[in-house]
Amino acid sequence: GDTTKNWDIDKSAIRLEQLLGDGQFGIVYRGTYTDKGGNKQLVAVKVCRAEKESQDISAINKYLLDEAYTMQQFNHPHIIRLIGICTEGTVGAWCVMELAQYGELRVYLIREKASIDLSVQILFSHQLASALSYLHERQFIHRDIAARNCLVATPQCVKLSDFGLSRQLEDEPIYTSSYGKLPIKWMAPESLNFRKFTTKSDVYMFGVCVWEILSNGIKPWQGVRNHEVIMRVERGELLEQPPNCPKAMYDLLRVMWMIEPKFRISMQEVANFLEHLLEEIDHGVPF
Ligand code: ATP
Repeated sequence: GDTTKNWDIDKSAIRLEQLLGDGQFGIVYRGTYTDKGGNKQLVAVKVCRAEKESQDISAINKYLLDEAYTMQQFNHPHIIRLIGICTEGTVGAWCVMELAQYGELRVYLIREKASIDLSVQILFSHQLASALSYLHERQFIHRDIAARNCLVATPQCVKLSDFGLSRQLEDEPIYTSSYGKLPIKWMAPESLNFRKFTTKSDVYMFGVCVWEILSNGIKPWQGVRNHEVIMRVERGELLEQPPNCPKAMYDLLRVMWMIEPKFRISMQEVANFLEHLLEEIDHGVPF
């Protein structure tokens, strides 16, 4: 990350305008940031949840700041950018980010279903694959990849968000305690069985996220209970091929969902494959 940059922002430079969403730890507002030169910029501001409910502020503050410090290190067109952090005063910290004007990808996919064709689905998938490939190059794993954690900046541009669970790998994979809510229906078999998370478990989760994109925002394993999903994944059962999903795309999903992590395709290969498909679409090559 850029260590020379000063990330501190005064809370007085931020005007909170509208509630955007409510997370486990943070509440997100749309707002305006006026910098020292008087320039105004639309932003998203994550405010410590405890600030409203007078719970244990320090634990939640740490979670919020950890996420901000993680975001600080990235510089990629398809990763939500950190703009700054407000830490003055005794109450909770604020995390100021670039605003994705069109909101959550899943909601957008449902709402704009009629206008989103296969080429847009593949475009979005490619942009997110390039973001994840960038993270993996830096030894970061995201661990919570799902359409609900992607944001839409413009109708042609999606961005990866929500770095609350992301970690930098040392040499070992990450094992988590089962504390907290886990995204069971997105998780790789080794994450379900051993709570083991690696770049290869990210690839598996990304496959589920692409499946959501190809399915217009339908959630995976709709109506199936978590424990049932675990048994079915264990038996090698896969999410079905979405209607109108070309065979080439479903074949890609299948190599992201190999039970054995070492047989799974890498994020870089996924990004290359999708880039190739986009070029073919540009040249009018039919599937
Ligand atoms: P958490 O992972 O912290 O429990 P969450 O997954 O629900 O929470 P948050 O990151 O807390 O998600 O964000 C809550 C909601 O705020 C998001 O679902 C999204 O709608 C909105 N949001 C968050 N960041 C932005 C942003 N940069 N631009 C636009 N909307 C955002």
